[in-house]
Amino acid sequence: METMIDSRMMMTDFLTALFDKLDVAGVAVMSKLPSGEKTAFTLFTGKDDIKECVPFFPAMPANAARAVSKFTRQAVPSKTVAVFLRPCELRAFTELIKIKQASFDNLLILSYDCSGVFPFQEINLSDETKLNAYRDAVSTGKNCEGIRPVCAACTRFTPQGEDIAISFVGRSTDQPLVFSFPSEKGLAAAEQLGLDVSNTVAASSAVESLAQERRSAEEELTAEVDASLSDTQGLVNVFDRCVSCHACSYVCPICYCKNCYFDSQTFEYFPESYFIRMQAKGALRFPVDRVLFHLGRLSHMGVSCVACGMCEDVCPVNIPVSQIFKTAGSKAQALFDYIPGENYDEPLPLLAYAEQELEEFED
Ligand code: SF4
Ligand code: SF4
Ligand code: SF4
Repeated sequence: METMIDSRMMMTDFLTALFDKLDVAGVAVMSKLPSGEKTAFTLFTGKDDIKECVPFFPAMPANAARAVSKFTRQAVPSKTVAVFLRPCELRAFTELIKIKQASFDNLLILSYDCSGVFPFQEINLSDETKLNAYRDAVSTGKNCEGIRPVCAACTRFTPQGEDIAISFVGRSTDQPLVFSFPSEKGLAAAEQLGLDVSNTVAASSAVESLAQERRSAEEELTAEVDASLSDTQGLVNVFDRCVSCHACSYVCPICYCKNCYFDSQTFEYFPESYFIRMQAKGALRFPVDRVLFHLGRLSHMGVSCVACGMCEDVCPVNIPVSQIFKTAGSKAQALFDYIPGENYDEPLPLLAYAEQELEEFED
């Protein structure tokens, strides 16, 4: 039985208490935008606007790990900042720490068991019917119809490495929140907040029922992607309509390079080279290097892909990018016996030198 603490608090009370009792410098959390329809990950530096926050709203306008890396990469915040991350965002954040693109210092990390999100374009704050269906699915531990395929197949929807966890799946929105404090930092925060940590409740059985549904969905998704990519032509077909906008890499939390190799001068060819390629092949399709870009990106970051779904959310031509990267990435991860974002101390396989490795691929 997991130990949790029923704090008898609602989320806005809790975030307000972080300012009042922990004296945090800020709280970074999903919030309503003034238009009243969309949301954005927002850093609040005072408690007055906290009523606008919607931490559990089922959309991911940006992978928050990328945002938190912006204000922790070059300097540690002078005072504690509380950040609210979904499990896949927390995994991405852990990967960024390993490559020195972010820091845990002076952060208090909140996370929760996540029921998934809708494609960003397809959900607004005013979509009551959809949101009611989502709330029903959350409270009963089921996938809600319409959430992103990569979320419906997400088996790592409970957080790892957080200071404060909030139990979400299996609870209705009018119930008080249930917290657990897995780290020393989290327990110290509980003490400062005056929470009674002796008041424990059992974990909801809805979490296991959601996990079961997702394991089956993951198997189906893997089989589907494997079948579509069974040969080189399959790969070409999948990326056939790619317009080479590279939006998928711009939003990926793991693609952190300031100057992407695939946007560099290496890929700006002299005019003659187009004619040489055209003559060699008989025809040349534009934009060129579409598949090369995706294979290159996979080889650069596939081992760290946390299957967050951002790349697919932004693709203008609806290529199932994150389903492909999740499936291909998990194969690369299995090869190195590596689980991205699971353990902060585990080095990245591509940065760790092993004298004997992958010998089966040698001549
Ligand atoms: S992939 Fe989807 S379900 Fe999994 S943690 Fe991220 S948002 Fe939640
Ligand atoms: S490749 Fe796509 S799914 Fe994987 S981490 Fe990057 S944005 Fe997320
Ligand atoms: S976002 Fe879509 S169209 Fe743009 S490069 Fe990626 S796969 Fe191609």
